Amino acid sequence: MTDSIDRRRFLKVLGVTGAGAAALSSCGIGPEPTERLIPYLVQPEDQIPGTATYYATTCRECAAGCGVRVRVREGRAVKLEGNPDSPINRGRLCARGQAALQGLYNPDRVTHPLVRNANGTFEDIDWDGAIQRLVAKVREAQGEGIVFLTGAEQSTFGDLVNEWMKHIGGRHLSYEPFGFEALRAGNRMAFGTATLPSFDFANAKYLMSFGADFLDTWLSPVEFQNGFSQAHAFDGGRPAAMAKFVYVGPRLSLTGMNADEWIAARPGTEGTLALAMAQVIMSQHLARVPADASRLVSVLAAHSPRAVAQAIGIDEVTIVRLAREFARSGGGLAVAGGMATQGANGAATVAAVNILNYVVGSVGSLVKFGADLAIGSTNTFAELAALTSAMADGQVALLLVHGTNPAHSLPGAFQQALGKVAYKVSFSSYMDETAAACDLILPDHHPLEQWGDSRPRAGVTALQQPVVQPVFDTRPTGDVILA
Ligand code: SF4
Repeated sequence: MTDSIDRRRFLKVLGVTGAGAAALSSCGIGPEPTERLIPYLVQPEDQIPGTATYYATTCRECAAGCGVRVRVREGRAVKLEGNPDSPINRGRLCARGQAALQGLYNPDRVTHPLVRNANGTFEDIDWDGAIQRLVAKVREAQGEGIVFLTGAEQSTFGDLVNEWMKHIGGRHLSYEPFGFEALRAGNRMAFGTATLPSFDFANAKYLMSFGADFLDTWLSPVEFQNGFSQAHAFDGGRPAAMAKFVYVGPRLSLTGMNADEWIAARPGTEGTLALAMAQVIMSQHLARVPADASRLVSVLAAHSPRAVAQAIGIDEVTIVRLAREFARSGGGLAVAGGMATQGANGAATVAAVNILNYVVGSVGSLVKFGADLAIGSTNTFAELAALTSAMADGQVALLLVHGTNPAHSLPGAFQQALGKVAYKVSFSSYMDETAAACDLILPDHHPLEQWGDSRPRAGVTALQQPVVQPVFDTRPTGDVILA
């Protein structure tokens, strides 16, 4: 040691920093508590320290059902990637899917069962006690007074809830804030089926979006982003082979920003533009129109470009040009959604865009009904409104909520009606608005901690497996129901 740092001074500095660290620690701003690097006392056979393990499972952050591969190191999930073998996302994953890890390790998760006490606050309860309490409440409520509200749940878990409700005489409803009701109603108007079709973006030669933000959050975003990037890519360096993309809507959304042309039609007139294009295609024989489309002639007569141009705010020449481009591409695909379907005429806009697809022969090729998307199977807002009224009238004695947070998305009437339900049970992993209003919270495992499955569309079943041991004292809701 040099003269400037002799042994005595070194020990003094050490003493001061040690005391300082202890003082900071007592104020709660000290170093983080030490964590074990290897969380297993008894190491599972398939875990080798220093070597990553990969598990294939399914993303449950939305109803699209993308396949994921999870990289696990020393028992901890550290990275999610898309599974290239999944027919939905083919190796890609969106930001929301990537964020599943933040949900898994979120320190604000409900870590164990909670019950509301006489003071109105939550207190701890063990699992046996919590399940006994639930059983007692189910017996008390009996039959019609029991409602199980889940998110969009096309899965074995959803089947189990259905079976249980049938067995005890209750009702199972599913609710999703983005229920795509205008899309379902528009499909019923045009084709008599209130289902959601699948859209083949990859093989489209000309794309038109009437308000649908399909590169952001619409239906199955990763699948559509993939398809769009294929259709809109240079083919062997030939830009001519690239599908043109036209976005119609009053707001330049994320999807709109990727368009080759933006048509700022007046809000609410998107469907009128679609009908005007269909009128041009039929009257000028621009496509091989299906034989039975002749019945549309009288419907479309009132929608000539000259008649509607002023209302739409787009000149006649542009409408005719768009119709010609769309029909002559030999693979036109039009989709409607987002803001274009939020108004009173939302369903009519969808029906009009269906007609545009129909007159160019894309229904059955690029728009396929039958491969219905699971998200379209949720209950309607009208059915949820009826439930809210029944709750407000005191007709619901026991409400069980899993995978949805209606007190957040329907903060008015639903939240008030919650107060009239005799007993409310939440299976949420988080203290969300609905859970906070409940009497008993039985936190579910995170999807990365449990077995499960989903049927994102007809013909596709996606399996889900645990990739880590449970982080907290939670239980799969299916197991709680079986218990
Ligand atoms: S689109 Fe796919 S990756 Fe994104 S949240 Fe939904 S299921 Fe997960």
